Amino acid sequence: MPHKLVVGNWKLNGSLAANEALLGGCGTLVGVDMAVCVPFPYLAQVAPFLGGMALGAQTVSEFQSGAYTGEVSAEMLAEMGCRYVIVGHSERRALFGEDDATVGRKAAAVLRAGLVPIVCVGESLAEREAGRVMEVIGRQLGAVWESIGEEGFSKAVVAYEPVWAIGTGRAASADEAQEAHAGIRRWLAEHDVLAADVRILYGGSVKADNAATLFAMPDVDGGLIGGASLVAGDFMAICRAAMANGGC
Ligand code: PEP
Repeated sequence: MPHKLVVGNWKLNGSLAANEALLGGCGTLVGVDMAVCVPFPYLAQVAPFLGGMALGAQTVSEFQSGAYTGEVSAEMLAEMGCRYVIVGHSERRALFGEDDATVGRKAAAVLRAGLVPIVCVGESLAEREAGRVMEVIGRQLGAVWESIGEEGFSKAVVAYEPVWAIGTGRAASADEAQEAHAGIRRWLAEHDVLAADVRILYGGSVKADNAATLFAMPDVDGGLIGGASLVAGDFMAICRAAMANGGC
């Protein structure tokens, strides 16, 4: 298993000046893989400031080309130097109507372009309280599996992001994260994916002060970081916590 992977998700934030300042405060660490997923217009701008970090996007079109005004294809993202593309983020599902099948088609589009999809899954608070965590995650993973199969999944990254933890300041406990991650790995193995090779990231209010505890769990292979990725010192502290917890 490679090093842990820490991915910053800038969401709808940034400006030319702010991006340069933020990346100027980041550095590359040996022993942890790092990436930032930036808004489309800044892909070209940030490339020279990345050091050893990989570049990623936050969503993608399921289509390759044609009359789809406003869309951006995975092939375009590849041409701009991207390695990762987030698909199925809960904000895309909740605010932009992306259903499970759409997420599956987007993951397939990302793989078609030779990029790595970061497939986000996770339950709402009501679903957790109803004891439906693995039922929901299994449904979300299943729709992606329909599109990309076991071979595609073996090239993907999965991000467990409980909806109730995203942007709320209330992260899952290390035990809650570990239980969900182990469940995801079991689900992958049951679907003929080489589950040990798939990196499963935790996302949801990861901060400098809780990262080490989360990354110490055996099935937590890194993090998807929203708010804290906008502060260079915080993002680097989280990356150092991943580095200190070694390989996956
Ligand atoms: C996210 O947007 O994927 C995320 C995990 O956000 P935050 O870290 O701010 O909870």
